[in-house]
Amino acid sequence: MIGDDLVFTVLGCSGTFAGPDGACSGYLVRSDGVTIVCDLGAGTLANLQRHVAPAEVDAVVLSHEHPDHWLDLPLLRNALRYVLGAPERALPVYGTEGTLALAEDVIGELAPTLVWHTIADGSSATIGGLRLRWSGTDHPVETVALRVDAGPRSLLYSADTGAGWAPGSLGAGVGTFVCEASLRPEDEGQVQHLSAAQAGALAAEVGAGRLVLTHLVPGVDVGPQRAGAAAAYAGPVDLAVTGGDYRA
Ligand SMILES: [Zn+2]
Ligand SMILES: [Zn+2]
Repeated sequence: MIGDDLVFTVLGCSGTFAGPDGACSGYLVRSDGVTIVCDLGAGTLANLQRHVAPAEVDAVVLSHEHPDHWLDLPLLRNALRYVLGAPERALPVYGTEGTLALAEDVIGELAPTLVWHTIADGSSATIGGLRLRWSGTDHPVETVALRVDAGPRSLLYSADTGAGWAPGSLGAGVGTFVCEASLRPEDEGQVQHLSAAQAGALAAEVGAGRLVLTHLVPGVDVGPQRAGAAAAYAGPVDLAVTGGDYRA
C-alpha cells in the first residue's frame, strides 16, 4: 500500500563543508520501490552506493545552487554516462534555474543522461506514489524546501533557510521535519540560516511529529544544538547522522 513506508536516509549532513569522514548535504527518500536523491553535496555519491546502485535512482531533487548541495551531480552524470548507466535511460533532475546554469557550466550538455525540470516556489511533481511540493525559503540565492507525501506519511526538508520561511506554506502537520541548524545561538539573524532553537520553533509552528536537525557545520558543538531545539519544541529531536535511517 502506498505510504506504508517512507524512509529518509542521510548520505551527508555537513553544512557549508564536510568535516573528517563526513559529506555535505544529501539524502535518500525511499517509498514503495521509488528512490529519490534529495540534494547531492560533495561526498554524498560515495555514501549513496552503500544503499542503492546509482542506476536505480529514479530522480534527483536539488534545493539550490550552493556547492554543498549539488557538487556530486557532475560525478553522478559521469558514472551513469560512462560506467554504470543504461544508454536509453535519462535521469530526471529537479532544480532551480540558478543550479541549472551552474550544472551546464560544469557538465556541458546534460542530455542524454540527465533531463532537467526547473522548479521554483509553488512547483509540484508526482514520482511513483510520492507527491512532491516545493516552497521558496529565506536564503541569499533561490532555494526551495521540499515536502514529500506518501499516503498518510509525510516529510518536510527545509533545505537552507533563515527564519523568514514559513514551513506551513506546504501544509500543516508533517510527520518528520528535517531542518537545518547551522548557527550557534549567538549568530542568529546574522546570515540566512537557522540556529537549532529557531529550527525547533519552526517544528512547533508546523506541528511536526518529529524533528531531525541537519546541515550541522563542522566544529559547532551539537550538544547545545539539541538542547536549544528541545527548549522550543516538545516533540522528539534527533541529530542527523550519516548513514542513519529515519522512518517518516
Ligand atoms: Zn548549505
Ligand atoms: Zn545555501
